[in-house]
Amino acid sequence: MAPNDVACPSCGDNHLVHVGAIPEGYQFAGRTLEERIPGGSLYRCKNCRLAFKHPCLSKEDLNRLYQQAEAAVWTYDPEKRPDWTLAKKVLSESQLSGKLLDVGCFDGGFLRYVVESSSDWVPYGVELNVEAALRAKGHGIEMVGSDADHVEGIGTYDAVVSFDVIEHLTDPSAFLKSLTQLVRPGGLIMISTGNVDAPSWKLMGSRYWYCALAEHLSFISPAWCRKISHDLGLNVERIHTFSHEQNRSVPLRLAEAAKNMIYRILPSLFKKLRQRGMGGVDIQANPELADTPPIWISAEDQFMVVFKKL
Ligand SMILES: [Zn+2]
Repeated sequence: MAPNDVACPSCGDNHLVHVGAIPEGYQFAGRTLEERIPGGSLYRCKNCRLAFKHPCLSKEDLNRLYQQAEAAVWTYDPEKRPDWTLAKKVLSESQLSGKLLDVGCFDGGFLRYVVESSSDWVPYGVELNVEAALRAKGHGIEMVGSDADHVEGIGTYDAVVSFDVIEHLTDPSAFLKSLTQLVRPGGLIMISTGNVDAPSWKLMGSRYWYCALAEHLSFISPAWCRKISHDLGLNVERIHTFSHEQNRSVPLRLAEAAKNMIYRILPSLFKKLRQRGMGGVDIQANPELADTPPIWISAEDQFMVVFKKL
């Protein structure tokens, strides 16, 4: 049961399922913290299907931690991002061209990946991290704001993308509403994030690696996207599930599945195995790792949704 004062941040409903306690966080945006962050609990809304963390850090604390993020934490090789590859394909196959906006563009990696092989798109970026925004600007990207609520050119963008951003926000419906206002009618919105309905996540519940990352607060799914699309005047054109790991070898998949299952079912055995060096983790030197979920990077637990604004 959820406490009476907890309501769904997306739809306001208070019919919630308490999925369970989330382990403490000890890292934030690639930096190891001196103080651990309480994990809180994972809740799931029965009405709109949003899963969310509660309680979580204040907006001020979150902003302070983001400004301390590792400079290269969100810099990627485009070929290792299945969502970037797919989004680029969707853009090139669409009949659209013109203004392409990336909300949370970091140093502009995706925008550069698109415009290097296509003159159909003019890149625009939104980024909160000052240093990353300057780097994006240095690459010729016009920066039009620091967050989705304060962007120049409302209603003028032909396509708006946002990769791995929505899980960092406390109100994903407000965020999607803001993106909807930025794009013109007939334009596309593409979002990638974790899928709370992925089988691996369902198995692990609140002890899943993705929700234990301290900067991850809200967890959506294709079901949430379909439900909210009606309210926002969007149509779900496409859903694509994927894994962040490209080399999903059978030994890796088996090893990650086995570690996660032991962690879920026999946590004390898991702790003993970690004490013996399982996974190359030295918990003598790093005792905070004893109850940290093992990563499950080979799981197909991510998805990208393509919306069209009606
Ligand atoms: Zn809800």
